[in-house]
Amino acid sequence: MSILRERPFQVLLHYKINKKERRMRKPLIAGNWKMNKTIDEAVSLVNTIKAGVHQISGVDVLVCPPATALSSVAEALDRTNIELGSQNMYAATEGAYTGEVSPLMIKDIGCRYVILGHSERRSIFGETDKIVNDKVKTALQFNLIPIVCVGETLDEREKGQAKDIVRMQIADSLKGLTKDDMHNVVIAYEPVWAIGTGKTATPAQAEEVHRFIRQLINQTFDASVSESIRILYGGSMKPENVTDLMKQENIDGGLIGGAALKGESFIQLVSKTKEVIEESN
Ligand code: PEP
Repeated sequence: MSILRERPFQVLLHYKINKKERRMRKPLIAGNWKMNKTIDEAVSLVNTIKAGVHQISGVDVLVCPPATALSSVAEALDRTNIELGSQNMYAATEGAYTGEVSPLMIKDIGCRYVILGHSERRSIFGETDKIVNDKVKTALQFNLIPIVCVGETLDEREKGQAKDIVRMQIADSLKGLTKDDMHNVVIAYEPVWAIGTGKTATPAQAEEVHRFIRQLINQTFDASVSESIRILYGGSMKPENVTDLMKQENIDGGLIGGAALKGESFIQLVSKTKEVIEESN
């Protein structure tokens, strides 16, 4: 059968499966606090979040404070279902790596997730896909769930290279992972031009790349991985745009910077996500 004849059937099948898949994937709303918040400020923020989300079920909630506040936030989160994550880690267990934190250390503090390959790590600290790949493999060895960030710059988008860049980042950052590994990975699509700029990708722009990523995962691994893997959107997600973004079939949550620094807006992101999920059921 030619590709042309195959395509309409595949598109239809994909659409039908997606409705079901969408219900299978529990959304994840993750706050990346970056280099913000003293210990007191971090505890106060997480206490506000705790009070605001404790009755909201059906959405996984994650906070990623700076390393200095991880321990105090972990204590504040004791006996809640809010997850703790680190914004980074080094790909070794211990040793002479001045200034770095290891997977063992963040695990010890109570982290379940770790953000890897954030565009700020890539652009400011020179992290390559190879470095990200080493970190992802090490995180998995420690039963940490890596949130692997990918996304194109404005220049790359304007040159029509967005999908090529994302394809390369996905291939190289996830190199050598098995299907089993992939069941413990989260991907975040974060167009660099939308991070911290107030410019959000339109729901259609974001969905196009999310769908593309899911197809790549399907080709590289298999349908069980692509149907279950969570792909988060990141880039100026806020209460005003979360509903339209979350309505997209292949957007399974958000990695949020600016809007995660205020309790009220982060809580709204969680509750609006919950509303979308309820409406789609
Ligand atoms: C981020 O840092 O991952 C991010 C998406 O930031 P913001 O929400 O501020 O664009």
